[in-house]
Amino acid sequence: MNYIKGFRCTICGKFFKPEEVSLTCPDCGEKGILDVVYDYDALKKVLTRDYFKNNSNYSMWRYAPIMGIQEDHINEMLRIGWTPLYKANNLGKYFGLKALYIKDDGLNPSGSSKDRASGVAVLKAIEAGADTIACSSTGNAASSCACQAAHMGLKAVIFVPKRAPIGKVTQISLYGATLISVDGDYKAAFNLSKEAIARHGWYNRNAAINPFMVEGKKTVSFEIIEQLNFEPTDWVAISVGDGCTVGGVYKGFKEFYDLGLIKRIPRILGVQSTGCSPFVNAARSGEPLKEADENTIADSIAVGIPRNPIKALNAIKFSKGEWISVTDEHIIKAMALLGKKEGIFGEPAGVAAIAGIEEAIARGIIKKDETVTMVVTGNGLKDPANAQKAIEQPTLMKPNIEELDKYLKEKGVI
Ligand SMILES: *Cc1c(COP(=O)(O)O)cnc(C)c1O
Ligand SMILES: [Zn+2]
Repeated sequence: MNYIKGFRCTICGKFFKPEEVSLTCPDCGEKGILDVVYDYDALKKVLTRDYFKNNSNYSMWRYAPIMGIQEDHINEMLRIGWTPLYKANNLGKYFGLKALYIKDDGLNPSGSSKDRASGVAVLKAIEAGADTIACSSTGNAASSCACQAAHMGLKAVIFVPKRAPIGKVTQISLYGATLISVDGDYKAAFNLSKEAIARHGWYNRNAAINPFMVEGKKTVSFEIIEQLNFEPTDWVAISVGDGCTVGGVYKGFKEFYDLGLIKRIPRILGVQSTGCSPFVNAARSGEPLKEADENTIADSIAVGIPRNPIKALNAIKFSKGEWISVTDEHIIKAMALLGKKEGIFGEPAGVAAIAGIEEAIARGIIKKDETVTMVVTGNGLKDPANAQKAIEQPTLMKPNIEELDKYLKEKGVI
């Protein structure tokens, strides 16, 4: 059963019935990003703690009634979601925090949180009778869209900026999508995709523009809630580019709060890189969002013009959270720290929230007697070139035991 009541425009606040809109607000145009609204009274009767206890579907589709999708094809999909949430004792102790939890969303099929959105996109494309799905992205939405489309037999046309890391670009072609590597930045890729989608009538998976992407993204919060036995942490830290992920994180907590499943909504820490921090700049200056440079190694959050600004700003505002930015050097250090302390390998944007937590503790934003969850949003193997910056290059060893011992002594191993 579909519990969608309609859509509300994030700009003008106008409510639309499902049949009245296609993607964005008819009055506000492309900037009028919509929010999917459900019949929460009806859902309250269905989505109870018992419902979840008895639900043996350990993927994000366990939340299907509140995702706005038809359920016909969910069993044919790749397994998305229900990624592990670890108690990070070593790193938590290192930071001096009461408790730190890490959700490794890099373990999704294509290695990032974007699979949550792409899974929904592919189902929506099938519902719409489309045979081709298209999107532009810094790399992860692109590879994820190609991945999910391949599994469900859809064609995919994918636009990425030329700087997209080799791991992500390789994935896109390997999944058989038509790859358009745009000679320009993410803005250029986004604009070209927009024009091409309008011209050829493909299903549009562009984040922000398509309100259902947040419906996939928000499941990460539902999972955190269940995995923490309906008592989420004081804070949830997440890296921010376009703002869809953080918007989804907030919506997930808000909806379970409204359904009476949790007693409070965690404060959200939105983390950007100092090399590209339009949200942080706006928060600091109190001025409207301005275009920023895209100058960071964290390519997934190198978004100079965020496409989902209102949902992102509201997520931090309504959760009484904070914006914070961290340097690329700090991100690289966080990558090594997470690997060394917890055995988890994240890409730069995937670990930026680790650096963000450290910075927030240093600034007294997060207190040491508080509890924190962070989400590793992308797998480190996607971007080995930047991971190389976090490590020491290996020494080539002569196959000789004396040489080996000398080296091990130098390293303090023996
Ligand atoms: C896309 C992405 C983000 C940020 O998500 P937005 O919706 O663009 O804010 C963070 N980390 C990784 C690894 C991503 O791929
Ligand atoms: Zn509107």
